[in-house]
This record gives sequence, C-alpha cells and structure tokens, in this order.
Amino acid sequence: MSQKAHKGNDAERDLPGPSLHLGEFDIIARYFARAGSRGDVLLGIGDDAAVLDPKLDRRLVLAMDTIVEGVHFLAGADAADIGYRALAVNLSDLAAMGAEPSWMSLSLSLPRADERWLEKFAAGLFALADRYSVELVGGDTVRGPLVVTVQVGGWVESDRWLERRGAREGDAICVSGTLGDAAAGLSVIRSGRAGDRYEHLRERFLRPQPRIALGRRLRTVASAAMDVSDGLLTDLTKLCAAGGCGARIEIERLPLSRALREGFETEEAEQLALAGGDDYELLFTVPAEQLGVIAGAADVPITQIGVITAGSGVTCLRAGQPIAPPSTGYDHFAS
Ligand code: ADP
Ligand code: MG
Repeated sequence: MSQKAHKGNDAERDLPGPSLHLGEFDIIARYFARAGSRGDVLLGIGDDAAVLDPKLDRRLVLAMDTIVEGVHFLAGADAADIGYRALAVNLSDLAAMGAEPSWMSLSLSLPRADERWLEKFAAGLFALADRYSVELVGGDTVRGPLVVTVQVGGWVESDRWLERRGAREGDAICVSGTLGDAAAGLSVIRSGRAGDRYEHLRERFLRPQPRIALGRRLRTVASAAMDVSDGLLTDLTKLCAAGGCGARIEIERLPLSRALREGFETEEAEQLALAGGDDYELLFTVPAEQLGVIAGAADVPITQIGVITAGSGVTCLRAGQPIAPPSTGYDHFAS
C-alpha cells in the first residue's frame, strides 16, 4: 500500500474537482472486484496478495506496461479507451511471446475518485479482458497524476515460446495487418480532422487489437518475433540486434491500409508505416518455406516485407535501390 496519508474519505474531501468521496476500498469494491471464473485463480482480489495455479507443465510469461496521461494517451482521453489501451498493450507483448493470457494486476494512480471516469475505465478494461478470459487478481490504488500500470501473466507450453532473438539469414521478415494506421490516427485526432474517412485510423490508434491468436500459431514456426510498438524501423533494428543479423526491407511491400493511402500522401503514409508507433502488430521472421503455411492459417493478413541478411542493421530498398531511412520511432529518453 502506498500514500497512506491520502487514503480514505478525509483526504478526498480536500480535493478540488468532481471527487465523489470514494475511498480506495470503495473504488476497488465497486469497480474492480468481480467474480472470476478461472479455475487457476485460487485467491483473487481482497487479500494481501493473489494465489495462482500455473500448471507445472507450462512456463509463466509476465509483461508489464505503464501508460501515462499526456505521453501514451492524450489528456482528457475517453476513460474507456484508456482502460482498453492499458490492457491491450500488455496483451500485445504476450502475443509477441506466443503466450496465452490469463491474469492481470492493475496499479492505478488517479488525481481524483471520479465515479463516471472509473465506470468507463473499468468497462473498457474488462471488455478486452473478457474477450481473452483474463482475470483481474489484484493491484494498487493511489492518488497522483493519471498513470495506469497493468501487469499481465500468461503461459506457454514448456517446450517453446517466441523471442526477439533467433532470426536467421534468409528468413522472411513478416508483419501482421497494416502499418502506420495508429500514428496516422493519432495525427488525425490531434489535428481535429473530422470525417468518416478517418474513422478507421482513429480506431486503430484508440483500440489496438492484440494479435494473440497469431502469436499462438507462430510459437512453433517463427524464428523470432516482437510486437511493433515503437515503429517498424526501430523495432526491426532491435530484432536484428537481438539476433546478430541484418535486414533488408522493400518500401513497396509495406502493408498500407486503404484508409491510410486515401487519407495521406504516399510519402507520408510510407513514413508513418516505417517510423510511426502504436500499431501493435506482430513483426516476425520465418524460414521461407514456412511462409505459405503461416499466411494461410492466420486470422489476420500476413505480409512479407523483406528478408534477414548477414551483417547488421536495417536497409530500406525502393525499386531495388537502398534509400536513406526516415527518422525512426519514439524513445522516451531521447532528447
Ligand atoms: P494492501 O494494503 O495489503 O496493499 P490494498 O488495500 O492496497 O492492500 O488492496 C486490497 C486488495 O485490493 C488487494 O487484494 C489488492 O490486490 C486489491 N486491489 C487494490 N487496488 C486494486 C486495483 N486497482 N485493481 C484491482 N485490485 C486492486
Ligand atoms: Mg496487505
């Protein structure tokens, strides 16, 4: 427990704004403690810690992501979108490991106890949690700037999971879905551009779809995998560094959605696909002969964008000629 001085109704009364004098206990009881149905949760919310039953023949996979108002979502963003996003970015990490999600814990730092906000936040969070049978088993609730941390646990069969390392020279480099949409959606939202033609892009930013089923399929087939959160070039560079290899990609092969192509100039669309973040698609490498199998069985389109090479770093080709890559993705600590 943290921030004891701020706990309870006495402290709430001093707060400006629409505080409804909910204490920490009320918040948890009203919005987060729900009856679960997972047999592997032996003790959930309400005690000092949760007790889980990860089966012995499996490996436990853990991921945690923090999202901060003004950094990962816009100030004043819809609370349901924030709840959804907090879990979606974590599920995307589990997808990239080939894991099956099971449990989550939630650390919530809130400027005030706003019932309407909490209700929407919980609705967004649980809508996605229920889709993947992920049970909330604990967390922490404190007062502070709006920051949401979710930790997700899941499992893989003990013999194999996916990692960033492992790509081999000659492997096909593939991505799921389309790239650049989320960054385009963010720019649409920021600039206040209206119109149905941008709806798909907005949605792609606000409601990323974790590629859980694809990750599970790739588990035994892909030589390396990660999710694309910081932008293709940045993330592919990491995958190459982890594998001690290089990559060559062809700009013409980048999967661009119709909405992106129609809403943006070609050059900008390509730039967004190469360097824009927040797509949460899977980036993976497979031995060339496995490509057909994967592409045919996936629940999302798969596109080969290039090939793993010897050496290091990412080379971009246009019409077969190397081009200088555009500036790369987001780094929280880059000046
Ligand atoms: P402690 O004082 O032992 O740290 P808390 O009073 O902080 O416990 O929490 C009580 C229970 O509520 C614990 O089971 C904790 O995991 C759970 N909990 C607290 N905040 C949240 C939250 N935001 N979401 C889910 N469970 C929470
Ligand atoms: Mg305790």
